[in-house]
Parts: sequence; C-alpha cells; structure tokens
Amino acid sequence: MVNCKKPLKIISFDVDGTLVDLEYNDLIWFKEIPELVAKKKKISFERSLKYVYEEYAKLGEHNLNWYDINYWISYFGLEISPNKIFEKYEPQVRIYPEVVPLLEELKKNFILIVITAMPREFLVPKMKKLEKYFKFSFSALSDFKELKNSEIYSKISKALKVRPEQILHIGDHWEFDYLAAQKAGMNAIYLDRSSTTKGNFVVNNLTEIKRVIRDKYNN
Ligand SMILES: [Mg+2]
Repeated sequence: MVNCKKPLKIISFDVDGTLVDLEYNDLIWFKEIPELVAKKKKISFERSLKYVYEEYAKLGEHNLNWYDINYWISYFGLEISPNKIFEKYEPQVRIYPEVVPLLEELKKNFILIVITAMPREFLVPKMKKLEKYFKFSFSALSDFKELKNSEIYSKISKALKVRPEQILHIGDHWEFDYLAAQKAGMNAIYLDRSSTTKGNFVVNNLTEIKRVIRDKYNN
C-alpha cells in the first residue's frame, strides 16, 4: 500500500454486497423476471428460471447490458415498467447491520461517496435510508456507459478534484472494485464477506475499515 503524503479525504463504497445485501437484486433477477417470463411463455417457473439464468450467463457481467433491467425486459418481451418492479421489492432492501454505525463515524472526518456498476434506477430504493450520508453517488453504467474499470475511477477522482491517492475505495468485487480502483491510483480495500481471502488489503466485515484507516492512513 502506498504511503500517501496527502491525507485521505474521501471514502468510496460499492453498493451491492458492500452496503446492502444481494437479496434485493436476486429477487429481481431470479424471482420476478423468471416469473414474468414463465407467465409469458406459459412454462413452469423452474424451466423459466433455468432459461433466464442461461441467458444472463451467456451475456455475462462484462457486457453492459447484463446490468440493465430495461435490456432484459425488452429481450424477454415483457410488458412491465422497471419502476413497478423496484417498488414491489423495496421493502426487501437490507442494509448490512454494521453500515449505519460505520457511516455515522466516518462522516465526521471524510467525504463519503458511492460508486455502483448498476444503473442509477437500481440505486434509488437501496439508498433511501443511506443517501443522507453520501455527498455524491456515481453509476458507472448511467454516468459513463461503462463497467467499473480503472478509467471510471480516474474520471471520478478528476470530477471530485482530488488526487486518487486521497480516495479509499471499498467493495466486494475483486476485479471491478479492488483491482480497478487500485489501478487508477486509489487506495483500495477488498471486502470478502466469505472470509476466504486474507491480506492487508482485505477485510471480512466493514467494521474493520475503521482500524485499517487508523493504522494505514493515520487518520
Ligand atoms: Mg458489489
């Protein structure tokens, strides 16, 4: 980890799997969409789920459309507005228990931001209870029409007018959060909630972030 001369100024968080659990997304991708497809094609839910799952996998997470609910609604020929789906599952948004106490603490000393790969519309229901903590939110897909790659992180640090080394990004995707942010010159922490990865730059729970900031950045 680079010893930064300038103090840490901004703490950046990924959203899905980092601040909120994956249940909300899973309900949309693996329950609602296959249910609608099953109804339309008049097939069983199980068959529909298998079909839908295979279509998602065929496209893959390196394709922008993979993240785009409008793409899938039209791909499967469904007649529903994404907002209807978002609202239906909003009560299922679950924020990890350590998140609010951590943000309360961090907001005293840092500017907090979120950077998500998902379209902005996906952010709205998830951030309702959290948005007051964050000064800025970025959606790689909506704001840049790209995946969370190192260029996106560079553009964001330029937009915020701070050096990348004054930003610490935390997220649960090895490539899109950890490697990409690090490549852009940011400090990066990989959140591995399954606790299979170990290392200086890995935390298994967000509460460890406070210790990492204290030890590594003397903040
Ligand atoms: Mg994530």
